[in-house]
Amino acid sequence: MFKEVRTQPMFDWSMIGDIKEGRPNLGATMDVGVYRLMQFTLRDILIKKFSPEIADQLYYEAGELAGTEFCKALINKGNSFPEFIKEVQALLSGLKIGILRVEKADMEKSEFTLTVAEDLDCSGLPMSEETICTYDEGFIAGLLHEFTGTRFKVKEVDCWCSGDRVCRFEVKPEASA
Ligand SMILES: [Zn+2]
Repeated sequence: MFKEVRTQPMFDWSMIGDIKEGRPNLGATMDVGVYRLMQFTLRDILIKKFSPEIADQLYYEAGELAGTEFCKALINKGNSFPEFIKEVQALLSGLKIGILRVEKADMEKSEFTLTVAEDLDCSGLPMSEETICTYDEGFIAGLLHEFTGTRFKVKEVDCWCSGDRVCRFEVKPEASA
């Protein structure tokens, strides 16, 4: 299940397991620092083994898969687009991933600018003039693709690390990106 060779992703929500049963005393939450320890050590090793570009690509793809599965498992597909956004906002803040806002929306062109405040991955990191939330870029792309059927390209244009107080993502349909 976890170590089989694969050419396509095999992720299934059941891989996450029954947390209630498995952690009766410690429960379902943990420290953000521990999550970041995993994210940044994994990034470190991917960069060492491959390159920053490949690490970014792998994080984007993993985020995309996560966004797709998140949408399948938790989002009501019968909703209108505004209802979908509301549901995503409630889930992301309820799960303490971040506070999502739609800064700009051009419904005709399907182009959006989204911001995430207090982002799980980067809020509070040291400044580096880099945008580092590639996993989040992929996550948004996967979520939107699964909900709308359209492929989107998502690019983070501002990040806590690049000096902003929010992460800002530009979202465009893939063909026009
Ligand atoms: Zn960021």
